[in-house]
Amino acid sequence: MDARSAKEYSKDDWAKLASEAESKVEGRLFINGEYVDAEDGGKIDVINPATNEVFGTCAAGTGKDIDKAVAAAKESYKARTWLKMAPRKRMGIMMKFADLINKNAAELALMETMNMGKPISDCLNVDVPASAVNLKFMAECIDKMYGKVANTHEKALNLSVREPYGVVGCISPWNYPLLMGIWKIAPALAAGNSVILKPDEHSPHSLIKIAELFVEAGGPPGVLNVVSGHGEEAGKALALHPDVLKIGFTGSTEVGKLLLQYAGQSNMKKVSLETGGKSPMIFFADLPNMDQAVGTAYDSIYANMGEVCNAGSRIYVERGIYADFVDQFIAQGQGAYTPGDPLDPETNMGPLVTAQAQKRVLGFIESAKSEGATLKFGGGVPSGLESGCFVEPTLFSDVNNDMTIGREEIFGPVASIIPFDTEEEVIGMANDTIYGLCASVWTSNVSRAHNMAKAIESGMVYVNCYDVGDMTFEFGGYKQSGNTKDSCFESVLGYTQSKSIWYNLG
Ligand code: NAD
Repeated sequence: MDARSAKEYSKDDWAKLASEAESKVEGRLFINGEYVDAEDGGKIDVINPATNEVFGTCAAGTGKDIDKAVAAAKESYKARTWLKMAPRKRMGIMMKFADLINKNAAELALMETMNMGKPISDCLNVDVPASAVNLKFMAECIDKMYGKVANTHEKALNLSVREPYGVVGCISPWNYPLLMGIWKIAPALAAGNSVILKPDEHSPHSLIKIAELFVEAGGPPGVLNVVSGHGEEAGKALALHPDVLKIGFTGSTEVGKLLLQYAGQSNMKKVSLETGGKSPMIFFADLPNMDQAVGTAYDSIYANMGEVCNAGSRIYVERGIYADFVDQFIAQGQGAYTPGDPLDPETNMGPLVTAQAQKRVLGFIESAKSEGATLKFGGGVPSGLESGCFVEPTLFSDVNNDMTIGREEIFGPVASIIPFDTEEEVIGMANDTIYGLCASVWTSNVSRAHNMAKAIESGMVYVNCYDVGDMTFEFGGYKQSGNTKDSCFESVLGYTQSKSIWYNLG
């Protein structure tokens, strides 16, 4: 199987490849360079949300497996198998690792689709290549991290050097399984740590596979270990482990808070968090281009089925253009995303990740109706797709900040349009949330754009665009959206600690 574009195969070809892959997919743990079963032999069924049928299993790792993986990581770190390599050699291994991910793109993409329902075309066009780019960028950082020499007493030398933590735990979510896993492990490895990754139990297969690719690229055994399992079991054991000195996490705010508690209950390990969001998009009447604004608004909430941390889930529109904006959103947005079989290369919207997620999102839709929002389109399960976890792209207008859909992270394809009258009012509404991940401001007035960008309490603000950028853009939130930056040079530094060294030269 070798494809770089989903359209190289037909829907039937992909379905055939998926059924062949099911019997071969690797679901064991990867510890110390080899596949092993969980100590207790437990397994978790991985469900394809497009059909609610089982697609393979993964091992249900427990505390015993975490102990084993941490011991292997600790041993590799103590032996300096990774760190003692010349930086350029480590860089070369990570580059090869990235190339192997691209080489195995079709297989990895298929695993993503079968695990969490993302359209195969998105997996191949976006997730897999973006994962390789992230790995390569982090590899390039390896010999670009510098310490400091202080300008101090002439009879002293005061150095500040950056060192890895040693053993790092990474815990990742299911919404971009491969990419979010890479966002954690790539900077951790680049910084020289040994890593244990705990993927989400709904979407483990691509991340189990890449552990093998790391070793194939020349990565020493024990440096990258993958332990699948339930969050409350394997994830908690990793976060409580006394030999793990840092946890990198992407997932819900609720679990992020638990990880901070586990750190306090165990060894005060450092915890970096990328968590939930309820990101405002603010459209002023003087926005430069209505078509582009509306297109970006619906893409931001319907792409990836709305299962995106920085989805533009609160769309604030100035009263003067409100009615026109809603009309254009309906005209352009209603047919832009069509739920369908995610193995069809033409499909741009798959199912939600689980039946539970589908029920939750439909519950939000019911709450919006009963709290007085106006349903403009969607709102149900698409006809003919009742056997999967699908939800129609949905639009509500006349939403306000007191409604449940105006406050909570829905994590589904539900757009909410909210009118506003003044700058002060919209700043107040945009900031009236526990979250602070991302925001965007649409206006032709540069002063207003800058003042708004400063006034909004979020870690990322886009002006006249949304969710674009590259590896120079520091990704991360304020408030309860997290405490770190991912996918940038800063993220490698986040997997290092600084040591001060004072030489007496007197
Ligand atoms: P989740 O918090 O339920 O799970 C994330 C990971 O944590 C999984 O691996 C899970 O097994 C593990 N986990 C669950 N309970 C645990 C526990 N008690 N101890 C240790 N680990 C535990 O999140 P999810 O539902 O998989 O992902 C969706 C959430 O992730 C959304 O809130 C979304 O906004 C957020 N997210 C944030 C970013 C970002 O960069 N800020 C990116 C993607 C997703």
